[in-house]
Amino acid sequence: MAYTGFTAASRPQKKKRSPFPVLIILLSATLLAGGFLAGRSWTPAPVSNVHAFTAPVQASAKPDTGDWKLLLVNGRHPLPDGFAEPELTKLRNGQHIDSRVYPALQKMMDAAREEGLKPLICSSFRPAEKQAALYEKKVRSYLAEGYGRQAAEEQAAQWVARPGTSEHQSGLAVDIVAEDYQLLDEAQQHTAVQKWLMAHCAEYGFILRYPTDKSELTGVGFEPWHYRFVGREAAQEIMEKGICLEEYLGAS
Ligand SMILES: [Zn+2]
Repeated sequence: MAYTGFTAASRPQKKKRSPFPVLIILLSATLLAGGFLAGRSWTPAPVSNVHAFTAPVQASAKPDTGDWKLLLVNGRHPLPDGFAEPELTKLRNGQHIDSRVYPALQKMMDAAREEGLKPLICSSFRPAEKQAALYEKKVRSYLAEGYGRQAAEEQAAQWVARPGTSEHQSGLAVDIVAEDYQLLDEAQQHTAVQKWLMAHCAEYGFILRYPTDKSELTGVGFEPWHYRFVGREAAQEIMEKGICLEEYLGAS
């Protein structure tokens, strides 16, 4: 951009032969460079952490299949404005899930328990206000460390999804851990509960939403505890092909 401006501004000056235009050219170049740098200083620094998108957000069409089960929610595709909370069913532990997902979730949990496993749902539906509060709390922790507002928000977004961009707000996602290992870290994948869930979740219409090798596409790091309901047909194709929801939907 800066180069185009420079060429256009300097072209007429080249026809003159006095040293004065050279000064104008140099001055123009300096101003353009200065402007360019000033512009850069307002551009958000690229984020390298896999928990957030590295590329600037580009406007892209949101794949709208018209199927509630295939709703795409990520950093590039926030929930639509005025997204209505789904009808919810309360689980025994006080968590809530979209009522349309409840039967499949219950079946999956029952099947796991029949195998002698002890899965525990530690997080499910999250109201918009709760997501906003979690995000703001993280932002404040960075502000307290001396970050400016914009930088604090960028840092926070690497760990807590910005309001409107968390699947938990849709009511279609659950975090499931093993009762005997409840830490949300990569070692969770080695528990018997996760091994069983990864092998069988698609039979119940769920997918492991954030596989380890898809962070660039999902914008979220490996989360071997976060399962998303998409319906059996999509789940089986996604899990069998080893793709993520973004790939399945052809989303950019
Ligand atoms: Zn989750």
